Amino acid sequence: MILETRAVEPFLKNGYVLGCEETREGVLVDPGDEVEELLEAVRAHDLQIRYILLTHAHLDHITGVKRAREVLQAPVGLHEADNFLYRAIVQQGMAFGLRVEAQPPVDFFYDGDGPLQFGRYRVWIRHTPGHCPGGVCLEVGREDQRERVLIVGDTLFAGSIGRTDLPGGDTATLLRSIRSVLLTFPDETMVYSGHGRPTTVGH
Ligand SMILES: [Zn+2]
Ligand SMILES: [Zn+2]
Repeated sequence: MILETRAVEPFLKNGYVLGCEETREGVLVDPGDEVEELLEAVRAHDLQIRYILLTHAHLDHITGVKRAREVLQAPVGLHEADNFLYRAIVQQGMAFGLRVEAQPPVDFFYDGDGPLQFGRYRVWIRHTPGHCPGGVCLEVGREDQRERVLIVGDTLFAGSIGRTDLPGGDTATLLRSIRSVLLTFPDETMVYSGHGRPTTVGH
């Protein structure tokens, strides 16, 4: 699988480009301030983006949605429980002393587990609330193989877990999500977080 990560100041939040090496179809995950870098990676790999998928709706993960949607002409997906955060992006910015632009409404809410498809790959949407109510983990893998990678947003990091002091956050819920969803995958499963370097389920 093609997997590219980009991050820029001030949040150093990871945006991802995932692509099928056979069909050149892909998905874009969490476009934020690094959206131009992500679009450059899409062009470099000559990918046709099927979906723009959001792990959750904190502002660092969504400030590039409008630009990505304009350029890629792909539908934007979010868990419905985070729509209140998505719609409040301008107020989220104010809380950090930042002026940010409103974003276009999302195109669809995640409906059950999916899967969505890009080329030979599938994306299953796993609801992992706790960091925020509509946080999800994207479980990604080839249709004909058991190996998976997890795009976990801010639920889990290399050596720590997501904060739960923002609106809608809850520590007990977060720990339950980590145990009941993420830790059910094999130890060698790669975990790609919303900030920082990748880790594994075993670690
Ligand atoms: Zn977050
Ligand atoms: Zn974040």
